[in-house]
Amino acid sequence: MVFLYLVDGTIIAAQLQTPGVAMGQVYSAACECGYQVGDLFLGRGEAVEADWHPAFCAEGQHVVAVNRAGEPLACPKPRHIATPILYGLDRRLSPVESGELGGRHLCPRCRTVRLSFEEVGLWD
Ligand SMILES: [Zn+2]
Ligand SMILES: [Zn+2]
Repeated sequence: MVFLYLVDGTIIAAQLQTPGVAMGQVYSAACECGYQVGDLFLGRGEAVEADWHPAFCAEGQHVVAVNRAGEPLACPKPRHIATPILYGLDRRLSPVESGELGGRHLCPRCRTVRLSFEEVGLWD
């Protein structure tokens, strides 16, 4: 939780962390088949209106970070118009519940549940 105070003690801004992916985490994803993605910037950073989350894009057959605070959900790549499916929240992608990004998930390349996410850093 982050509070910003004026000199007289007034709270001028407050940000609450969401459960699961907290604000400003960098993740990578890797599968036993060799598929991997680095630099997935997730959470919020300084942009309060954004909440980046990894998703499966059927159009590009890849894992992308999408802004789930925005409507509609969209892959950032041009011409990828299929609605991305959020990891950790959809049983087709993430059959085992162990936190949103824990456990194994569907790999966009080999289409088996062998993709795992790993936190590799922080950003803001
Ligand atoms: Zn895409
Ligand atoms: Zn794979």
